[in-house]
Amino acid sequence: MPKSVKWLGHSCFLITSPKGKRLVVDPWIAGNPCCPLKLEDLPKIDAVLVTHDHFDHSSNAVDIAKRFKSVVLAQPETIGRMQSEGGLPAAQAVYGMGMNTGGSAAIDGITVTMVEAHHSSQTGSPAGYVIKLEDGTTLYHAGDTGIFGGMQLLAELFPVDLAMLPIGGVFTMDSLQAAKALTLLKPKMAMPMHYKTFPVLEQSADNFVTLAKEEAPNVKVIVLEPGKEHSW
Ligand SMILES: [Zn+2]
Repeated sequence: MPKSVKWLGHSCFLITSPKGKRLVVDPWIAGNPCCPLKLEDLPKIDAVLVTHDHFDHSSNAVDIAKRFKSVVLAQPETIGRMQSEGGLPAAQAVYGMGMNTGGSAAIDGITVTMVEAHHSSQTGSPAGYVIKLEDGTTLYHAGDTGIFGGMQLLAELFPVDLAMLPIGGVFTMDSLQAAKALTLLKPKMAMPMHYKTFPVLEQSADNFVTLAKEEAPNVKVIVLEPGKEHSW
């Protein structure tokens, strides 16, 4: 079965693995002006990955997890908040308590590793995720971050097929930094995220596409409309 990555606007992605497992990263669906789906439209989700505890990355994590009994990956302090404020059952937190930067979790043949990101968070610290699907395909969701030199190390440890990178500026990397990040990560493909949602953010991926061509011409940049997916 082909794998697919569907963009739900902002930093929210629905990933379907070759064996049909579904992961949602940074679920902000209700109230996300760029998300064409309603929460009720989501298919069954096996795992919810939260990069950090800001509303535009975590708002619907508990709703989704409770509805589908999905496992939730997030830092212990963020899990704690989901439990105390949202009633997330402890059994649905990865390892019963959450995980932290450097840690990995196995989800039915998929390995998810939490990696560094440079940003802020109301609880815990911000993170990114490296997601290795059953067939070895490796995805990197950077979360919200500025560019950092450790991206080069990530690429050595986890050769990246597809990198999902924020390009909107103000709160994260802008297009120039994200294009430069491609030279560190050396992914086969890249998808821009975290733009257009708020007036203060960059409003299109055009600049990123141009700069990526200059900085990393070998990387295939895939710009999705919200609700559309890339499968391969
Ligand atoms: Zn954000």
